[in-house]
Amino acid sequence: MAKYIFTTGGVISSLGKGIASASIGKIMESRGLKITLVKLDPYINVDPGTMNPYQHGEVYVTEDGAETDLDLGHYERFTNAETSKFNNITTGQVYNAVIFKERRGDYLGKTIQVIPHITNEIKDRVRKAAQVSGADIVIVEIGGTVGDIESLPFLEAARQLRLDVGFKNVLYIHLTLIPYVRSADEIKTKPTQHSVGKLREIGIQPDILICRTEKALTDDIKEKISLFCNVPKDAVIEARDAQSIYQIPLVFKEQGLDRRILEHFNMKCKSTDLKDWNRLVVKRALHPSHEVVIALVGKYITLQDAYKSIYESLNHAGIYNDARVIVKKIDSEDIERQGSAKLLKGVSGVLVPGGFGYRGIEGKIEAIKFARENRLPYLGLCLGMQCAVIEFARNVCGLKGANSTEFARKTRYPVISLLEEQRHIKDMGGTMRLGVYPCRIRKDTLAFSVYKRALISERHRHRYEFNNKYKSVMEKNGMVFSGIYPKKGLVEIIELRSFCEIEHPFFIAVQYHPEFKSKPDRPHPLFREFIRAALEKARNL
Ligand code: GLN
Repeated sequence: MAKYIFTTGGVISSLGKGIASASIGKIMESRGLKITLVKLDPYINVDPGTMNPYQHGEVYVTEDGAETDLDLGHYERFTNAETSKFNNITTGQVYNAVIFKERRGDYLGKTIQVIPHITNEIKDRVRKAAQVSGADIVIVEIGGTVGDIESLPFLEAARQLRLDVGFKNVLYIHLTLIPYVRSADEIKTKPTQHSVGKLREIGIQPDILICRTEKALTDDIKEKISLFCNVPKDAVIEARDAQSIYQIPLVFKEQGLDRRILEHFNMKCKSTDLKDWNRLVVKRALHPSHEVVIALVGKYITLQDAYKSIYESLNHAGIYNDARVIVKKIDSEDIERQGSAKLLKGVSGVLVPGGFGYRGIEGKIEAIKFARENRLPYLGLCLGMQCAVIEFARNVCGLKGANSTEFARKTRYPVISLLEEQRHIKDMGGTMRLGVYPCRIRKDTLAFSVYKRALISERHRHRYEFNNKYKSVMEKNGMVFSGIYPKKGLVEIIELRSFCEIEHPFFIAVQYHPEFKSKPDRPHPLFREFIRAALEKARNL
């Protein structure tokens, strides 16, 4: 039977609960255990797929095509867990299911209540995630901050699960903040005392506290936290601000967090160290020999979370290439106002990420034109591919006003358009082309030299597709369609090598999202080669 670890957060949001949970997963894997991670999200949306990135940050897509919370990205990057639609449970899904069952008459005349019907549904879903994963340990991260109204049913379900499956099979870890007060030159434990008090009111006594702090926790402080929060002193784990998030598993392991968890579960597993992780990821991340500046031309650049997996993938590729990747975040509307030459000056590569809607599109197209003409390495992701197609159609193939029907319904040259099967869809939620699809790569292409394989599979999240009517005119002008989804003949990868007497070192764009499959110790080949090309460019600048 699986063991359950619930992670909660207190005092403030943005404490890094996702990274802490993923790091716990990593150190338990270092004990040879199979783990999985589940995120419980208190909002009433069924999934984040319909939310604005400013509300929610990136929407992470799993292999099976679920649109999920970005914390699942941390889980997959830190661990070997493969997440799916079972790994993200929202209040919306829970109520949807309960109301559906009520209408069907499943509850036999009962009054439907938060306890037990909603809490039972939550527990069933957590157990289901445990069962489908076959994990020894299931780490369940409860979204929100203790004290929020919204997360109460999740906390109540977590409390009940210990009664259901036994004290020794459930562990509660609370992540909290120990703020430093400059005027007093002291770190303060009171907010943590209150937050743990709040948890106890609900009936949860945390077994372990992870304390986010700027300063080291002295023995005195640990004793104080232990006494007031009712946890043993060696269960007070210090989580000092780190330079790289990938250090966190090492920090936890050094303090024996894995040992403590195993003791609680009465499990004996031999310990392996995280030497490879330290050598391949942490050391290289902290002390790179080179530096390279990449422009990310997007719409949601002020929010760090909006392109989370892309930033991480660039980071992984930098780690592999022994370089610090500095991302110059450029608002594509600024390119429309100020021009690309000014804003892209000095960068060694351009990346255009995914996105929706017309705003900022022309700036992206201009940035791509600049990258194409100036032989700057270019990587386009999803919308970044569609914009590269539009740019090439307009400026090289002479198809004036070419566009995607997403932005201009009646364009003369709809080089990007909807498939017939998408035309009649009315609902917005969960109806895009989602999840993993195979792609066949042509042998003599840049894509093949990047992947070194003819058959790949990558994750999708889009509605619009390249319009195959324009394939031959684009091909004649030098665009190479190097990756195709065989079953439907859909274009997955485009590239430019030689066109209009220009030899381009690295211009590639994909209809899918490679950023969801990159890991710190296994960078995605597209990002890895993009950064390699950018470093080459930087050397020759
Ligand atoms: N808006 C485009 C589409 O729906 C691209 C989506 C994306 O970049 N994820 O096809």
